[in-house]
Amino acid sequence: MIKINENYLKLQASYLFSDIARRVSDYQQANPDKALIKLGIGDVTRALPAACVKAFHAAVDEMASDDTFRGYGPEQGYDFLREAIAREGFQARGASIEADEIFVSDGAKCDSGNFQEIFASDIQVAIPDPVYPVYIDTNVMAGRTGEARDGRYEGLVYLNGNRDNGFIPDLPDQPVDLIYLCFPNNPTGAMATREQLQKWVDYARANKAIILYDAAYEAFIQDDSLPHSIYELEGAREVAVEFRSFSKTAGFTGTRCAYTVVPKACMAYTASGEPVPVHGLWNRRHTTKFNSVSYPVQRAAEAVYGPQGKAQVKELIAYYLNNARYIRESMETLGYRCIGGENSPYIWIDGKSDSWEFFDRLLNNTGVVCTPGAGFGKCGEGYIRISAFNSFENVQEAMTRISNSL
Ligand code: PLP
Repeated sequence: MIKINENYLKLQASYLFSDIARRVSDYQQANPDKALIKLGIGDVTRALPAACVKAFHAAVDEMASDDTFRGYGPEQGYDFLREAIAREGFQARGASIEADEIFVSDGAKCDSGNFQEIFASDIQVAIPDPVYPVYIDTNVMAGRTGEARDGRYEGLVYLNGNRDNGFIPDLPDQPVDLIYLCFPNNPTGAMATREQLQKWVDYARANKAIILYDAAYEAFIQDDSLPHSIYELEGAREVAVEFRSFSKTAGFTGTRCAYTVVPKACMAYTASGEPVPVHGLWNRRHTTKFNSVSYPVQRAAEAVYGPQGKAQVKELIAYYLNNARYIRESMETLGYRCIGGENSPYIWIDGKSDSWEFFDRLLNNTGVVCTPGAGFGKCGEGYIRISAFNSFENVQEAMTRISNSL
């Protein structure tokens, strides 16, 4: 008899997006003449930068000729891309990362979900709340938790975000081995300072723990005093793995290209305490289960680092951040406390009421769709997330409707 992995039965069905879809569809049926403005989903809306499209086309043409055709590429990514990432993404900011420490992949979702596979099943995992749900669900699937009770899984250490700590979680009060952090944060838009992040790095070094640092929104950081990479902090090479993505940086959500940085100095331990480089373990896992991102997509990603690509990406990010600023200022003018929107495309708003009640009020009174914070964890209750991924015209219209109605 074939048996299932029963850990999957522990997974709490995520009703978040289906619930939103149902309420939106009910609204549309009742209000067929009212145009909806969707500021809920975290997907980009603007086209790929022209430099990426040009490189993409040229690489497709190479694939069309026997002389320049390429088959399987190196699983870790082509050197041209790994070198550009190491040089422009890290060394240019003083973070000492080499090209062979970069693993190119088809998404930070897969990488941040898969990385836990190389660790033991009896480790103690710490996860922020509110959170991008992939970190939790993949640990549930791997059997590192008990059942869910009251919206939280037994066996996980939750790192609470709240108004007092500005949604930058405090260090845990019990030992943990694997820590997930995400800055700029989805869903809250919060960004940790150098000092706040250094505390986590020091904690990980003192406790022989590892930090999985999700920097998928790094390109949105504007404040020069803030770290773009965890490797800008002292000692991080020994204890941190970083996930980055071209999805939000350059509109690659549908094109798919990302990367994970695994420094050679980063160690995990055998049961008897022998250090083992995580780099070798991830290389083994990646080369066994993944067969590289397509050549044209890697060429398109490389173009992000050329002079035109850099300028176009900057303009793209500035466009979304202008939306974010507009949303934040409009909501603050209406008396709502906000986090995010300055170094992030997300604005996290204290709705002064139940998350879903606020969601319904926005939808029914204005036709604007947001995301209820409660869908990201217990600590998200009372908040909503508004995303800056839309046209400025739609953002303006949404804020006018909200100002007239709330
Ligand atoms: N990490 C975070 C925090 C995200 O919000 C997202 C997407 O929304 C991802 C990773 C996924 O990125 P990718 O498109 O590279 O899979």
